[in-house]
Amino acid sequence: MNTVYIALGSNIEPRKDYLDQAIEMLEKHPGFTLIDQSLIYETDPVGYVDQPAFLNMVIKGHTSLTPFQLLDVCQEVEKSLGRKRGVKWGPRTIDLDILLYNNENIETEHLNIPHPRMLERAFVLIPFSDLDNLTIQGTSISQYINQLPDQERKGVRKWEPKNGEEEFEHFAN
Ligand code: ADP
Ligand code: MG
Repeated sequence: MNTVYIALGSNIEPRKDYLDQAIEMLEKHPGFTLIDQSLIYETDPVGYVDQPAFLNMVIKGHTSLTPFQLLDVCQEVEKSLGRKRGVKWGPRTIDLDILLYNNENIETEHLNIPHPRMLERAFVLIPFSDLDNLTIQGTSISQYINQLPDQERKGVRKWEPKNGEEEFEHFAN
């Protein structure tokens, strides 16, 4: 059995539903078992600022799939949730990025593991730290978080729905 971590993100409403549906679809796959999930965070958009905020989280799973089979499954999930909205060129309903697959290093045209940008992204590292404080390339997840600029850490806030409304809470460092 192989241990994997997957990052999920959505910035089209209903964002929480897309996260839930993506996890449900992965769980339904016979080759994937959900082990743990982070809290949900709301993240200011990075890069293109002129788009809605994201909900981000990280899940941990066990899988009998190879990394490439898992990528296929993730892309199927993205496709079926994207199609539901009928948005062709708009922001994505769901993004699934494979962060880690055991301790493997994979560098191919269509798959890079560890995910190349995961160690610089507050919206990946902060939810990841809810699960495990792994050491990657000699540095722990919490050390990577501490190395981030304050501004970037503050852009990632715990999120929870409350009476149908969104409640925001700053990430407590
Ligand atoms: P991004 O996640 O960077 O916003 P996309 O979700 O559109 O971009 O993914 C672009 C491509 O990244 C995918 O077609 C996939 O082949 C590739 N890719 C490389 N490594 C990974 C990975 N670890 N997880 C998911 N996709 C990956
Ligand atoms: Mg992606």
